[in-house]
Amino acid sequence: MADKWIFATKNPHKLSEVQDILQGQLEIDALPAHIPEAPEPYESLYDNALFKAAFYESHLKQPVIVEDSGLFVPSLGGRPGVHSARFGGPDKLLEAMRDMSQRDAYFVAVMVAYYGPCKYTFAQGIWHGRIARVKAGSGGFGYDPVFIPDKQTATVAELGVEWKLRNSHRARALHRLLKQLSAG
Ligand code: IMP
Repeated sequence: MADKWIFATKNPHKLSEVQDILQGQLEIDALPAHIPEAPEPYESLYDNALFKAAFYESHLKQPVIVEDSGLFVPSLGGRPGVHSARFGGPDKLLEAMRDMSQRDAYFVAVMVAYYGPCKYTFAQGIWHGRIARVKAGSGGFGYDPVFIPDKQTATVAELGVEWKLRNSHRARALHRLLKQLSAG
C-alpha cells in the first residue's frame, strides 16, 4: 500500500479538517491547483467518490484519497443529500424546513483510498442529529451552523472545530479508512 497520498479536494475546509484529524498518522498532500475539479455525476456518495478518485488518480498518476459527503434530511425525502454542495446552504435548508417539526438529519462521509484501477478501499462515517430552527455559531463550514448533533443542544458551528474533529462523520470515516489501510 502507498506511503504517500494526495487528499484530492478543492474544498479547503475538508482538507484542513482531514489534516487535523490525521495528525500525521498518514502522509497526505494537497491537490495541485492546476488539476481541474472532478465532476460528481452520480446519485450516490459511493459512486461519486469512486468516480472522483479515478479521475484524480488518472491526472496525478499518484494514489489519492477522495471524500464525498452530504447532509440527509428524511423529512425532505433525503435532500439535500448527494447534492448538498449545490443545494443552497443553511439558509435554503431552514427555508425548506420552516414549517417542519420533524427535524432529524444525518451527515454521511464516504472516503475512498484509490491506488490504481480496481485497487481501492472504502470507509463510511455517519453522524446523526437534527436541524436547528435558526443558524448559530461561526466555526466550521457548510451546514455546521444548523446541525445539532445527537445529545447536544448547540450547533456544530457553536461547539467548535476541536469538538467537531473528534466527533464528525468525516473523522469516523477517516479513522475507519486508516484501520483498513494499516491492516494492508
Ligand atoms: P461534496 O462532498 O464536495 O459533494 O460536498 C459536500 C457538501 O456537503 C459540502 O459542500 C457541504 O455543503 C456539505 N457538508 C459535508 N460535510 C459537511 C460538514 O462537515 N459540515 C457542513 N457541511 C458539510
